[in-house]
Parts: sequence; structure tokens; C-alpha cells
Amino acid sequence: MNRRTFLCSVTLALSVAVSCARPAPAPILILVSFDGFRAVDIDRLPVPNLRALAARGVRAKALIPSFPLLTFPNHYTLVTGLYPEHHGIVGNVIVDPSFPERFSMSAKTAKDPRWWGGEPIWVTAIRQGRRAATMFWPGSEVAIGGVRPTFTVPYDKKMPSADRVTQVLTWLALPEDQRPSFVSLYFEEIDSASHDHGLETPEMTAAATHLDAALGQLEAGVTRLGLDDRTTIVVASDHGMAPLSKDRVIFLDDDIDVSTVDIVESTALLELWPKDGDVDRLYRELHGRHPQLAIYRREETPDWLHYRDNPRIPSIVGIPDEGWAVMTHARFERKFDPATHGWDSSHPALHALFVAAGPAVRRGVVVEPFANVHVYDFLCAVLKLTPAPNDGNPAVTRAFLR
Ligand code: AMP
Ligand code: ZN
Ligand code: ZN
Repeated sequence: MNRRTFLCSVTLALSVAVSCARPAPAPILILVSFDGFRAVDIDRLPVPNLRALAARGVRAKALIPSFPLLTFPNHYTLVTGLYPEHHGIVGNVIVDPSFPERFSMSAKTAKDPRWWGGEPIWVTAIRQGRRAATMFWPGSEVAIGGVRPTFTVPYDKKMPSADRVTQVLTWLALPEDQRPSFVSLYFEEIDSASHDHGLETPEMTAAATHLDAALGQLEAGVTRLGLDDRTTIVVASDHGMAPLSKDRVIFLDDDIDVSTVDIVESTALLELWPKDGDVDRLYRELHGRHPQLAIYRREETPDWLHYRDNPRIPSIVGIPDEGWAVMTHARFERKFDPATHGWDSSHPALHALFVAAGPAVRRGVVVEPFANVHVYDFLCAVLKLTPAPNDGNPAVTRAFLR
């Protein structure tokens, strides 16, 4: 063999070796949200599939929500690792003094990327060469940083749970070069049943049964597709819930002239903007009025709430004691839910759910409560992605991994 022929055969052998050693397929992570599912309810509700998933993986005694304990801020914290004061979704309704229109979760304004800061996990995945699919998630219909999920579905509360799971499985059945690596899957049924009918009711039990069946359908589908050995399932919630009572209500219009304020949030959390900008007057009118209602100026909210550093946070924030509500008489007459959320996370009933199982996750481990800003780093670790800068600490969840 002359030198030239020898070099050609070496090159050929190398290229065969390279083409045989294809890169390992990317990990798959399905992030499931059971909106409003309380940490304590994993042992109380009929959710055998969820308990079995926890037994095969890691379960936190509680996931501590970020303030305010509402759906949009916490879902967006779960996928960015940022406190609401840093990602900008500081409420379900938001007033930004520099924007003409207000943000409202079900309105078109919520799709304007100007509201959405930080980098959600689906953008992280896409920027690092993966595909990402969202079967509903706050923020998923917005081009955040100019990037939309590879596959997405506009929010429709009426879409049956089974159809949501079928859509996820359809995406996962795509050929490898199209298959998403990150998938979100959102369910509002527990939150809706708790608001409408109360806690520990047959309706809440029925909602839990439906969601657990959806989880079973998802797991069976993943197995059928032969993806078990690369799929991690995380089931989390955004906040818990506590009961309200018509005997524990503070009426705002008994204390102030409500025509002088913009009420951004009420019931388990009070958020006000004085229309004339006179924050001190409004503070004086409300502060110390009721022993069950703590009133703060934005700059004076407790440190541990991480709820100061954003001009979108209303200038007056009130937090009633757990179980107490603050609202106007008109609101009380119009709609009074038997249970809700919004109080701070010092109350265990407001704590959220966290369960994770998959090939990289330790089995049968129960971990101490941890804050939901740490979830994004965990998702990135499972997906082998480099996280964007965030408020979490990857050391908090490192021990969850094998
Ligand atoms: P909350 O008032 O904080 O209990 O919000 C719960 C409600 O948020 C649910 O009843 C859902 O209908 C609504 N929701 C959840 N995700 C979305 C979404 N992506 N777009 C619009 N609304 C949503
Ligand atoms: Zn919620
Ligand atoms: Zn709710």
C-alpha cells in the first residue's frame, strides 16, 4: 500500500467510526402543572399515579411559592428561576406606570413581549439547539426574547385533559430530529374546583381523580413510545389554597373612598395604586386599621417576600391574615369563593407540590421544602442545558440527581 492509499483508508475508517457514534439522543423533560394543588394533598387526595411517581423519584415536603401567590407570577418563576420582581410578571393583573394598557392574564395585552422578562426554559432549550413544546403555560404564547416555543397551543380552558395529554404524546412521537426535548403540560382543574366549590369537597376529589388519570395516560404513552429511559416527569404546582369565610372579611370601602384608588388585586392580597399618586395619604388611611391586615408601602414590604424591586409592584400592598379577605362590598356581593390563595407562603396550606422522576433523578427520596426559584436550575440540569442567569442556586437541587 502506498502512502496515499494508506491515508485514504485511515480517513475512510475514521469517517465510518464517526458516523456510527451518533450523539446520544437529548433527554426529554415533561413539566406538568397541577394549578393550585396543595403540598399536603398528595397524601389526602385519590392520586395513586402521582404517589407512585413520587415513590420512583424525588418528592419535596413542600415547594415554597414566590410572592405574590398567584398563577401567572409563580408559573413564570418556575420556568425562569426569577422572583416576580425580576421577571416582571408581578401579578395576574399588572399596571406598569410607563405602559398605556394594563396586563391581564386572559387579555391580548398579556401577549405583548414587553411584559415578559427573563428567559423561560423553552427559550433556553431552543437557544441551545433543542426543540420545545408547550401544552399551555403562562408566557408560552409570547415571543420572549424573540423566541416562541417550537410547538404551542393557544390557551383554551375547555380543552379536555385527555386531549392535552394526547397532544403531548403526538409531539413526542415525532421523528427524532423534530421531537421536543422540553414539553409543558398545564391543568387548571384543581384550582377551579377549589375556588368554585371549596377544599375537601367531592368536586375537588373528582378533579384530582381526573388529573391523576391524565398523569397515568401520559406515563403509559411515554412507555408505549419507548421513551421511558430518557424521559423525566416533573409535577409541580404554583401555590396551595386556604378557605375563606364570610365572617372574616375586611371591607375596603368602610375605610377609604374606593373611587380614589385603582384596586389591582383584592381578597387574599390587597394591591392599590392611589389615583392622585398620594401614597402617604393612602398608607395613613389604611395602616394599623385592622389587626388582621398588614399594610406596606412597596419599599417596605418584608425582605423575605422579594417584592420591592420593580416599578410594576403597586405602591400599597396589604396582606391579610390567612383565611381573612379584604374587598369591597360590591365584590363581596358579586363573587365570594369558598377558597383562594394570595396570602404569603408562611402558611403551609399555601405551599405547593413538587415531584420529579426519571433516569437522572434519585429514587424514593423525600426532600425538605425549597423555594420555587430553584426549579429552573433543576430543569436545566436534567436537560443538560446551561441555565440563563437567575435567582436560584443549583446546589439546592443537586442532591436530587443521581
Ligand atoms: P388564579 O386567579 O391565580 O387562580 O388563576 C387561575 C386561572 O388562570 C385558571 O383558571 C386559568 O383559567 C388561568 N390560566 C392559566 N393559564 C393560563 C394561560 N396560559 N392563559 C390564560 N389564562 C390562564
Ligand atoms: Zn394558580
Ligand atoms: Zn386560583
